[in-house]
Amino acid sequence: MTHLIRSWVETANDPETAFPLNNLPFGVFSAGDAPRCAVAIGDKVLDLAALQAAGLLPDQGFDHPALNTFMASGRQAWHDIRETLTDLLRAGNETPAVQAALHDMNSVTLHLPFTVSEFTDFYAGRQHAFNVGSLFRDPANALPPNWLHIPIGYNGRASTVVVSGTDVHRPMGQMKGPQDDTPRFGPCQRLDIELEMGAVVGTPSAMGTSVSVDEADDMIFGYVLLNDWSARDIQAWEYQPLGPFQAKAFATTISPWVVTKAALEAFRTDTPPREKELLPHIKDTGPMLYDIDLSVTMTPENGQPTVICKTNYNTMYYSAAQQLAHHASSGCAMRTGDLLGSGTISGPEQGMFGSLLEMTWGGKNPITLKGGQTRTFIEDGDTLALHGSAQGDGYRIGFGPCTGTILPAKRTGSA
Ligand code: MN
Repeated sequence: MTHLIRSWVETANDPETAFPLNNLPFGVFSAGDAPRCAVAIGDKVLDLAALQAAGLLPDQGFDHPALNTFMASGRQAWHDIRETLTDLLRAGNETPAVQAALHDMNSVTLHLPFTVSEFTDFYAGRQHAFNVGSLFRDPANALPPNWLHIPIGYNGRASTVVVSGTDVHRPMGQMKGPQDDTPRFGPCQRLDIELEMGAVVGTPSAMGTSVSVDEADDMIFGYVLLNDWSARDIQAWEYQPLGPFQAKAFATTISPWVVTKAALEAFRTDTPPREKELLPHIKDTGPMLYDIDLSVTMTPENGQPTVICKTNYNTMYYSAAQQLAHHASSGCAMRTGDLLGSGTISGPEQGMFGSLLEMTWGGKNPITLKGGQTRTFIEDGDTLALHGSAQGDGYRIGFGPCTGTILPAKRTGSA
């Protein structure tokens, strides 16, 4: 069991902080000036461009407005930089140069941490797949026949991945209810979240080559929280036979800090027992998931937050490394900045479901929020927030917020 590594940044030693020295997640910030790379430490951000300029870090592109250059440098460089930063911030090692590179986190703007090259979303939660299959088709055939053999996914949109805190307009789309004779076009009426983790690809793979599960794991730079906003009425009409399209393309929100694999290493857990033996190219090679507590809060306009879901990443059937190995197995090139959504993380019981579709069972059973309002799906003005942390001995590895507020639909195409 690892324990807290003490820092001279006092707030990093608070057992409640998301960002102890054990974490050191990477992000991009600005303070009224040009965006550049940083790590979070306690209630501060540490300007890595300043450390690079001072010669305290090698040039890994920390002055860029995205982490991609550093992410592409590979696991040895990730390890070396983490070691250097840990030493610079360790209790007793305070220096004026590092002190001068700290900013209060609540005084800076956090940006999208990396340029998202591509976004692929998976469907790797067994309970979620069963629930959605039951709702969209029928319980007897809920799980598609391929589900226990491959991580099912679809190629999504990188262009609309946004950082936490970005408002999202309710999407417009075409839908047709079961009682409707003809489809119509209008604002989505069944707007939903999906609680997911996002795996961030650091090192690329070449077109025409495959990677093993272990090689795939080495390619992953870290993880973020990911809200795969979903328009259920648009989805229900459009999704067969090629999967979701506009229902998912309008927005995906991620948390601002990429938590590295090194920070999560102490929290590795096994995937669940296999119901069907997996083929060799995606077979588990060890504990492939992480014990990360996850929750979702919903806050109506001028209201108070209500926790509507509590679950854990360790409930997933496929790990990100298995998804990545499967993704590359056809010869598909994977790029630095590729973002892989885990699929909705729903635990086995009510209260652990990671989407409103499941929580309200297709809108049949409204949930009640603090203050008495009820919801089936998201209303304009609602703020949804994902939270995640791994609990260590006297410290926790947090992800920072992943929030978004829904604004009314823009009925025209103009900005
Ligand atoms: Mn999804």
